Amino acid sequence: MLSNYQRSADKLAANLKAAGIQDSAVLQSISEIPRHLFVDDILQHKSYENTALPIGQGQTISQPYIVARMTEVLRQFGISRNVLEVGTGSGYQTAVLAKLFENVFSIERIKTLQWQAKRRLHQLDLYNVSMKHGDGWLGWQSKAPFDGIIVTAAASVVPEQLLAQLADGGAMVIPLGVDEQILTLFTKSEGKITQQALAPVRFVPLVAGPIS
Ligand code: SAH
Repeated sequence: MLSNYQRSADKLAANLKAAGIQDSAVLQSISEIPRHLFVDDILQHKSYENTALPIGQGQTISQPYIVARMTEVLRQFGISRNVLEVGTGSGYQTAVLAKLFENVFSIERIKTLQWQAKRRLHQLDLYNVSMKHGDGWLGWQSKAPFDGIIVTAAASVVPEQLLAQLADGGAMVIPLGVDEQILTLFTKSEGKITQQALAPVRFVPLVAGPIS
């Protein structure tokens, strides 16, 4: 697997292009990140398929199409400086972002997942990522404002604290809803927030309450 992953990653990027991803820098990042390193050994044979996969603790690594689409949406705003990710999980989306943004900040509430993700990113020499074990509903106030915010778990209500940490001219992509979820885009311009529904999606919930 390790020896021929490059062909698999290139094929995945080609599939995502066929599925409608247009940003060539995003597709490039997908071909550069070895997704098999972000899943358990027994799932490696599926790691370049365009599907979500379990990563333990009841969580999932997101479907590559969704990772690419959410990244592409943020880049449409010319955002390149700093981005906040809520829900590090496996760290795969984090790695894709790290290739495209100057500084990536990522928050995860489950410590074991955060440790694993940190180890993988160092293994890939991606050092422009700062990670925090904490509650993503609160964002990361000391690093705000963010040009981009990407939430990779579904929020039952709009996280107002995240919107408050969005820079003027910035954009946030987030799945909203419980059973029925809609990927939603928020933009901020001269302090005014605009909301736009993008597509139906399926994510694990953005959990409220104590972290573990
Ligand atoms: N981008 C990740 C998605 C992982 S699934 C990937 O592709 O691997 C969503 C993640 O969000 C899970 O790891 C879950 O633990 C985390 N999460 C859920 N609620 C959270 C919260 N309130 N704060 C921080 N992380 C949270």
